Amino acid sequence: MSETKQLIVGVDVGGSKINAVLADADGHIEARSSADTLADEGPEAVIGRIVEAISQLISGVEVTGIGIGSAGSYDAERGAVSFSPNMPGWHNIPLRDIIQREFGLPTCLQNDCTLAALGEHRFGAGVGVDNLVYVGLGTGIGGGIIADGQVYTGTSGAAGEIGHMIIDVNGSPCKCGSYGCWENFASGRAVAQEAVRQMEAGVPTAIRRYAGRDVNKVTAQTVFQAAQDGDYIAHEIISRTAYYVGVGLVNVVNIFNPELILIGGGLSKMGSLLLDHAIEVVRERAFGISAKAVRIELAQLGDDVVALGAVALVLQKKCGTDEGE
Ligand SMILES: [Zn+2]
Repeated sequence: MSETKQLIVGVDVGGSKINAVLADADGHIEARSSADTLADEGPEAVIGRIVEAISQLISGVEVTGIGIGSAGSYDAERGAVSFSPNMPGWHNIPLRDIIQREFGLPTCLQNDCTLAALGEHRFGAGVGVDNLVYVGLGTGIGGGIIADGQVYTGTSGAAGEIGHMIIDVNGSPCKCGSYGCWENFASGRAVAQEAVRQMEAGVPTAIRRYAGRDVNKVTAQTVFQAAQDGDYIAHEIISRTAYYVGVGLVNVVNIFNPELILIGGGLSKMGSLLLDHAIEVVRERAFGISAKAVRIELAQLGDDVVALGAVALVLQKKCGTDEGE
């Protein structure tokens, strides 16, 4: 439609990495830049690295807008990151306006998992699907919702915090201040913690070896490696995690009656070892009509899902205080 190719910058500001892409309106990535977030150095240093990543992409090209995805909660009206659990010092940082002023380009900000849903909806496994939920199984659990073809963000922009649905009212404390949340049972952190608990109880398992005999180096990834190589305990831990992934998905299915649930995040790399059992639980426990209607699949856009979702956000022209058209 347009005379010249439209190019957009999408940035994913994560707790450990900043991933920026330059993409066209079809989601084809033309260039990329990335940096370690080094969140401990505080907001000013991180913003400097975001600006640097964007600068690298836009020098010499015409860009129509910048989209940014960030973890944590944000103030939709002010385009500010109100709080980000993995980024110390991020309280009410008006990131959208800072970037907009720096580059003089329309800039949008949105929660990262909401953008992941939007990215998959526009460019990935969710094209043509009007009702879908993206479930990011990472260190924690995040979610993004597309309802009737539109992003659903709720009254305050905080919808989709599915990681904090309560699975056990008497469960252990969660980072959010509540107890027994889903991410205490089905996240990467939960996998690692359960492995450490078993190791410290003296249960014989090869996980120790994969973590270089250092409990602090146990991650969901090391547990997965041990399971793939036949370690019984590692297998048990993943099987239990898969069960709890399924339990949470039952709730998601019963609440949203989606056509599609897309599973992304680090744990999704476990593939069928995790998903098969989780899907079984959904088939057994969710409302029949909804369980029958839903497909549960792996997300497609991998590590670029949030950055491409940010590109899609700019294409929707929902950039708050846009000055561009
Ligand atoms: Zn919680």
